[in-house]
Amino acid sequence: MSAWAGELALIPGVDWLLNPFSRCLLCNRILFSGQGGLAVPEWIVAQCIETWHCPDCRRAYWHGSHVRRMLAQLQSFAKQGEQARACSGQQQDAGNVVC
Ligand SMILES: [Zn+2]
Repeated sequence: MSAWAGELALIPGVDWLLNPFSRCLLCNRILFSGQGGLAVPEWIVAQCIETWHCPDCRRAYWHGSHVRRMLAQLQSFAKQGEQARACSGQQQDAGNVVC
């Protein structure tokens, strides 16, 4: 997947970090801040963890450990893209530079 991400990152306009986790996984609607959907676990409320909900299917979201892992992966993809674009630019500018 990293190789695929590196190739995709070379396409101009791909921004891995543009509004991550802002859409519903089920229906792709933009999430709204706060509760308003299905109930969230009590421990989320007790710890005052920020939540979002889908206005369409009402699914509730919060940032847990899975989001931190996915964000780290997206940051890694973004870095790979930057490195690949920089390397691609060097090859074009210098002609015989090998990255
Ligand atoms: Zn939804």
